[in-house]
Amino acid sequence: MERKGQTKHQRMAVWQCLELTSRICRLKKIRKRSCIICTQPGSKACTGCHAFKYCSIECQETDWPAHKLVCRSFKIVSARPEPPSIDGFVNSKRAILFPVDAKEPQFFWVKCEWMKEPDSGLFVENHELETYYPGEEKRLRTNLRFNQNPLREKNLDNGFQIWISDSDGLEANQSIMATTKGKNLSREWRGNVVVTSYSEASNVPPTVPADMTMSDFRAAVDIFTTYGVDMSKERTGKCKGVKIRCFGEEKEAKRTTGKWSPKYEPIGLPVDHPIFAATVSPSPVSRFIRIPVLTRKCKVKDAWKATLGDTDNQAGTYLHIEADPKAPTGGPNGGLGWGMAPAPWQNNVGSVFVVRADGKDLLPTHLWALYGAISTDRVMARMTREGFEKYFEEFKKEMVQAGQQQFAGEISPYAI
Ligand SMILES: [Zn+2]
Ligand SMILES: [Zn+2]
Repeated sequence: MERKGQTKHQRMAVWQCLELTSRICRLKKIRKRSCIICTQPGSKACTGCHAFKYCSIECQETDWPAHKLVCRSFKIVSARPEPPSIDGFVNSKRAILFPVDAKEPQFFWVKCEWMKEPDSGLFVENHELETYYPGEEKRLRTNLRFNQNPLREKNLDNGFQIWISDSDGLEANQSIMATTKGKNLSREWRGNVVVTSYSEASNVPPTVPADMTMSDFRAAVDIFTTYGVDMSKERTGKCKGVKIRCFGEEKEAKRTTGKWSPKYEPIGLPVDHPIFAATVSPSPVSRFIRIPVLTRKCKVKDAWKATLGDTDNQAGTYLHIEADPKAPTGGPNGGLGWGMAPAPWQNNVGSVFVVRADGKDLLPTHLWALYGAISTDRVMARMTREGFEKYFEEFKKEMVQAGQQQFAGEISPYAI
């Protein structure tokens, strides 16, 4: 009896100890979460929604004009509407709708469904947004992706996407005017705007949808006022990107023009180009350096296939190298685990279009340097913003010495 009692007592002690440890961990996690406005630890929760903590009354007051419009809505949608379906192929994620014709943004649950992407054959999880863009052509809808709040210089736990439509004749968005008080809007936000979240840690491809948080909402509101869309660029509908030519295309150009053309060719892509579609995930390594780039294969021309290996594109493949050490091997996406590009990006890649996910200009020299950084054995040590910034300067010097004059005095990709 006595031994049994002791065991029970010991068990209780162990349990209490574990419970305490987990409570401390939870507390630490909460404490670690910073204020929604600044980088100080947050300790004062909003008494309405309890969704987020502020470090001070000052920060809460800064957030209040925007927060008060969604405080109630966040509370109402706090329970997920249905359990994931049995096969796990349909799910709901928390998103925010900025309605075109009402003042208050609404948190809501958006259905996410797994679909096979026609081009790549990959299975990707898509947000079902049709309802929120009634009568609008899907090809005119693009999303702007962010994983930082640039105004407050804060990194976010997840990335988020602002879905906009370029259809003609859309009304100015009332709820964006209300949350930002209409001040300093850097572009005209028209029609319904939905903001969805995706997991930054997700394997690439595809992007895995996640729940929108109050922190993402704050960042979206800040981006509405700061997003640096060059309106002249928008009117001409071109975004500056780069085409990486496969060897076959380089040879074809040599045949027709008599000289070698640059491997990294500057291009302008229309803002409704499929490269900006939701199903395109940023290159994994590009996320590490905080310049996420989107890629898309060009149609492979017969003329590029003269010799075996001519459609290979090493730079294109390297951009897709899996950077998550925990990435699984196999599965519907053809993932081959850490340090490997997924199967569809291994061979016969052809020429590849590349653009920056933040809509800023991508220069050929920047992409060349990124390839240089990935292809050295010091790849993971460099794959931070600071590391790549430093590498870019070294790379510039090397390239100028090698006679690549376009690198002389080149601007850093972070200064764009
Ligand atoms: Zn604060
Ligand atoms: Zn609140």
